[in-house]
Amino acid sequence: MNYSSFLALGTNIEPRRQHLYQALHRLRVHDEIVILKQSSIYQTAPVGYTNQDDFLNMVIKIKTTLSPEKLLDVCQSIEHQLGRKREIRFGPRTIDLDVLLYNQENKKTERLIIPHPRMHERAFVLIPLNEIAPDMPLPNGQRTVSELVAELPDSDIKDVRRWTQNDLANE
Ligand code: ADP
Ligand code: MG
Repeated sequence: MNYSSFLALGTNIEPRRQHLYQALHRLRVHDEIVILKQSSIYQTAPVGYTNQDDFLNMVIKIKTTLSPEKLLDVCQSIEHQLGRKREIRFGPRTIDLDVLLYNQENKKTERLIIPHPRMHERAFVLIPLNEIAPDMPLPNGQRTVSELVAELPDSDIKDVRRWTQNDLANE
């Protein structure tokens, strides 16, 4: 397992915790993926398309032997297995699995951009990521996760609340 990667999980269709749980389980039993760390679960207000229910979000650190493309394939097949339908862009979803980072690499193809293009400005990604990798510098910018969190507007930070009713977080 020589590559390191961070994945973001999100869901805003009930049963939300169950959707996170099932996605984590499918990642955990995959032969080429080991989950190293997982953040708490956060309840977050929707961003962009705001006329939808609140999300649960979390971030995990994995090691893997999969290439970035194969890792995205696994993420998309789990989304599919959990019944995700692509109707509204940024709209409600049973599970969204994004590849945030892969081995400090930069990558841009038709279907995969790493680092994830919107992660630097998304409180619902940065705050959980800050819990498990505060001192990690992001590729290019040389800024660490905690520095990016410090730059988030207060209005974004207040929309991301630790969701205490969970038994997944390693607190
Ligand atoms: P979003 O996650 O932005 O809400 P989707 O999950 O529907 O939207 O993903 C849209 C497309 O984004 C996918 O078809 C995928 O090919 C592409 N994509 C590009 N880079 C990434 C990445 N780093 N992680 C996940 N998907 C990505
Ligand atoms: Mg996605």
